[in-house]
Amino acid sequence: MRLIFLGPPGAGKGTQAQRVSQRLGIPHISTGDILRQAVADQTPLGQKAKSYMDRGDLVPDDLILGLVRERLQQDDAQSGWILDGFPRNLSQAQFLDTLLAEIHQTCDRAVNFTVPDDEIVQRLVARGRQDDKEETIRHRLMVYRQATAPLIEFYEQQSRLLCVDGSQEMDAVTEYLSQGLAA
Ligand code: AMP
Repeated sequence: MRLIFLGPPGAGKGTQAQRVSQRLGIPHISTGDILRQAVADQTPLGQKAKSYMDRGDLVPDDLILGLVRERLQQDDAQSGWILDGFPRNLSQAQFLDTLLAEIHQTCDRAVNFTVPDDEIVQRLVARGRQDDKEETIRHRLMVYRQATAPLIEFYEQQSRLLCVDGSQEMDAVTEYLSQGLAA
């Protein structure tokens, strides 16, 4: 199973991705986690990405695309994966389509998690990560609406979209998601 998890920050993508990843035995690939690790390790990638992440802006595509290409070609990703936080804009989505064609893979579903803005802000302020200050959260939401939300229609047109109400209780979301993926 090859899945793309879409949705605003704080929609619960990461938690649900971990659960599905365990259940199906496929890797959970979060570009945000990879970038945070690079920042912590102070690698050249991390040094370049840090200021964008602190502001809540998207890191430039040229820092991300090669990383995704390499990750999807690793051994553990050959029988499936969950992409969490990638693609984040239309050019990344087009890149992914081309890459998948090249490596003879196809994505099965794009799952869109929806949560109202006010609830997102509440959840993220409570999470308290480095980029979870209210001002940065609002900025990330704006970036999401502008750059990432158009992907909902992109995957709908490809008839791959599954919509999940992310404002429900976590276990209910997992249950709904599992049923949707099995259908
Ligand atoms: P996330 O953990 O997915 O919320 O990502 C945290 C931050 O990492 C984002 O606010 C961006 O700055 C950066 N980031 C993660 N994934 C991407 C991506 N696919 N493209 C650009 N920037 C990204």
